[in-house]
Amino acid sequence: MKILVLNAGSSSLKFQLFGLPDLRVLASGLIEQIGDEQSPARLILFDDAGSEQTLKRTTAVAEHRKAIMVMADLLRESGAMTDINELAGIGHRVVHGGEAFHEPVLIDESVLAAVEELIPLAPLHNPANLTGIRVAMEHADTVPQVAVFDTAFHQTIPDYGYLYALPYTLYEEQKVRRYGFHGTSHGYVAGQAAHYLSKPLAGLNIISLHLGNGASAAAVQGGNCIDTSMGLTPLEGLIMGTRSGDLDPAILFYLARETGMDMDDLDTLLNKQSGLKGICGENDMRTITELAEQGDQQARLALTMFCYRLKKYIGAYIAALGGVDCIVFTGGIGENSAIVRQMSCQGLERLGIILDTEKNAQRHNETFEIQATDSMVSILVVPTDEELAIATQTMQVINNA
Ligand code: ADP
Repeated sequence: MKILVLNAGSSSLKFQLFGLPDLRVLASGLIEQIGDEQSPARLILFDDAGSEQTLKRTTAVAEHRKAIMVMADLLRESGAMTDINELAGIGHRVVHGGEAFHEPVLIDESVLAAVEELIPLAPLHNPANLTGIRVAMEHADTVPQVAVFDTAFHQTIPDYGYLYALPYTLYEEQKVRRYGFHGTSHGYVAGQAAHYLSKPLAGLNIISLHLGNGASAAAVQGGNCIDTSMGLTPLEGLIMGTRSGDLDPAILFYLARETGMDMDDLDTLLNKQSGLKGICGENDMRTITELAEQGDQQARLALTMFCYRLKKYIGAYIAALGGVDCIVFTGGIGENSAIVRQMSCQGLERLGIILDTEKNAQRHNETFEIQATDSMVSILVVPTDEELAIATQTMQVINNA
């Protein structure tokens, strides 16, 4: 039997097929630029011997419904899955679960209605997630489907951590509060860190830094999240590829008054034109690092700002946790950028955080440690695997149903 994991983004569909019982990856696929005239689709098939075979095509994929069809074709043609009845379950990544979902759930009509109700909080993602679920349910109505929420892991944050200092009625009536995102990743890497350290998660204070195009930090105490940097939306917190992260909210009133920018302009400014891109014109950390090494001052500034913000969050979360046992770097940048790890830990030696430059320069496909022998705090690089985490949780929900 197999588990299929679907991750429907605003203009992409990622999918992965796992074999039971060991959750080995059988196939992995991606359809991009959904809505454009031509959408590239590819599927990589993995066999027992570890060799890969890639199927590629470019077709018009107008919307997510069609993307699911293309995915089904690719899975069938490759031989990865010929019959829907091979599936023990389908796991769906759902971005916003609001306060309704603290854990993954078996999908029924009431779950669909609740996810639909949350669309205003995630207008780009929840509709895509919902279409993915609905189409999958139409085509595989006998297969149990599970929703795994990006926000669920953060539901343990106490009220004084998730509330904004706004009139309380805005929380009661509009549900304005911190929700946090990347929860599946933070939860997964925290578990992996405990496993690597051979210590129970229940006894560890962990700061998890998920640094990809979007970036967030989480303070995890005994396996429970007690704070995270993203807020009502994924805009708050760390500096990201194109998002500003934290700023003085009065900047928005100032810009609106002074330049006449409207709500949509400001939304685009903060979400698409800011962050690393706003400072140096590039949003890809690889390019920025190369430019900085070549002496580009703006790239250097963007890199320094990115790491400084990260360092401030590490400091804040040490205070929130009352001390930290382990710092985890993950995501495309966290897993690959030695310079970001070095610059964000630099100067924290008095807090017991000491990086080993040589260990930090290494690369591995698995978890590895980069702290110096005299560091009180473990510093780990943990490859995240959100799809595997979703597959695992899907299996658990189905087994407990
Ligand atoms: P997403 O958040 O979209 O899932 P990823 O987790 O894949 O994104 O992270 C993308 C980021 O990781 C990009 O900024 C990219 O430049 C960065 N990245 C990937 N590989 C490297 C590398 N070798 N060095 C520095 N940054 C890297």
